Amino acid sequence: MKKVILLSLILSVLLSGKAYAGDLGMLSYYYSDSSSIARYKSSPLVYFGSLDSSVSGTQLSTMINHATNQWTNGGVRVTTTTRKDWSNIEVYAGNLTSLRTIYPSYDSSNTGLMRPLSTAYEGEWRYAGTYIKNGFQHLRTQVLIKNRTETNLTTRMNYYRKTATHEIGHALGWRGHSSSSNDIMYSSSSAVQNLTTRDKVHLNQIY
Ligand SMILES: [Zn+2]
Repeated sequence: MKKVILLSLILSVLLSGKAYAGDLGMLSYYYSDSSSIARYKSSPLVYFGSLDSSVSGTQLSTMINHATNQWTNGGVRVTTTTRKDWSNIEVYAGNLTSLRTIYPSYDSSNTGLMRPLSTAYEGEWRYAGTYIKNGFQHLRTQVLIKNRTETNLTTRMNYYRKTATHEIGHALGWRGHSSSSNDIMYSSSSAVQNLTTRDKVHLNQIY
């Protein structure tokens, strides 16, 4: 009886080509404080809209184009669409009152946030041999970006570009945060503009 069980186990391993069910493979890097990582199965499309005059359409498109260029050049392709019904990532910007019409629990201390609207568990990634990271698939996500009040437009846009790149990073599957303050995916607000190698490799190894 034991031999039969062993044989069927070997056969199932050979047939699946993987060590066990739900094994997504081996990760080479891991720079997040979260034990989860997510991805889209195909290159996601970003739809964006301004909710009020506190963030202009031009300011919003400037920050979104910066964010999508950063991630695409970093190895995770993401592009924009004007069709909301085709999109996978919806981005809205505005003041706190406007954001709360979409998401009543929006915390006023957040410069931006990402929330998954539809997610599926995909399996387990292995890291450093044995450590297991949970893999999810994002189907739809929403990003909310709060208006800023710095009078200097350049300062404001620098913060916006950082926030948009950071939150779209979460939408692309970067769960948790980096511990390095130079990274876009560091938790605190900053005016860092460009993805570091750590930001990039954490995600593009699973795409
Ligand atoms: Zn974050």
